[in-house]
Amino acid sequence: DVVISKDDGLTIYSEDMDKRVSYNSMLERHLRYAIFGQELELYYQPIINLRTKKVIIVEALLRWRNPQLGMIPPCDFIPIAENNGQIIPIGHWVLEMACRQIKKWSMEAFPAFKVAVNVSYRQLQHPEFAQTVFDILSRTNVSPCLLELEITESSFSDDVTKIKNTLDRLKEIGLSIAIDDFGTGYTSLSYLRQYPFDKLKIDRSFIGDISQNLNGKQITSAIISLAHSLNMKVLAEGIENDKELQYLIEEHCDEGQGYLISHPKAVDEIEPVLFSNIETTLCRGNNVQPDE
Ligand code: C2E
Ligand code: MG
Ligand code: MG
Ligand code: MG
Repeated sequence: DVVISKDDGLTIYSEDMDKRVSYNSMLERHLRYAIFGQELELYYQPIINLRTKKVIIVEALLRWRNPQLGMIPPCDFIPIAENNGQIIPIGHWVLEMACRQIKKWSMEAFPAFKVAVNVSYRQLQHPEFAQTVFDILSRTNVSPCLLELEITESSFSDDVTKIKNTLDRLKEIGLSIAIDDFGTGYTSLSYLRQYPFDKLKIDRSFIGDISQNLNGKQITSAIISLAHSLNMKVLAEGIENDKELQYLIEEHCDEGQGYLISHPKAVDEIEPVLFSNIETTLCRGNNVQPDE
């Protein structure tokens, strides 16, 4: 077997090694320095109100740019971070940066503009999670009602009782909670009754099917009805063309997000989009008081 040892300690094995395994362990090693090395960045993607077409919230999406490896997509490194526990400090960094951005926007431009942050089930299962969120909001002096947390549907496994306490505390503080990638989990729908989520995000695979075949339309419409009958807002992810957009408007889907509207962009590039199109929502919550 050919073994090439690089000066940074990185070892690349020959073709009989599983390429995926070595790629992942290489990512894992580099990921340890990602926060310290300032290699992480948040991009933002606008979400519009499908009725008014104005931007009502932006979703923060994590980007990792490593000097040697280039840009690594979240689908490659988030699962690794979830496996080795690094998602805890990384998730903390994401929340902190998102809250600082909310504060900055609220002081410079938009008084009450919301940001949605993706949260891993590993963070939710952590007993300190609600307190961590509370501390970050308090330190950054951000009103909890400006923060939405997105939880991927598959995190619930078979029920939400394991994370119910955490969800309750977050709701008590005043955050809103969305279910992400809805329809991709293979779990029962009973968790929708077990917990009062605020929003349901229809996975983009169904939205893509709207312009392809009838099933996509039927499933999407069924999910919209389901959400509304449970008093939840419903959002369509991955809107890429006008046909999809028009269908979603006709079906009274509340919110939309996708490349047709805007790609996720760095702060500097997203601001012009927001300035011309924003619709701020009423924020009734009080700021978490910072510790003096
Ligand atoms: P997600 O939360 O469902 O985010 C939406 C993903 O769809 C993003 O991919 C976004 O760039 C992409 N997208 C948006 N509009 C379109 C469209 O019209 N067409 C297509 N094909 N794709 C579209 P991204 O940024 O690569 O993120 C992938 C996933 O990684 C996210 O899915 C989320 O689950 C996870 N992720 C991203 N940032 C974070 C984070 O800060 N923390 C955690 N725990 N997970 C994150
Ligand atoms: Mg999301
Ligand atoms: Mg997600
Ligand atoms: Mg999603």
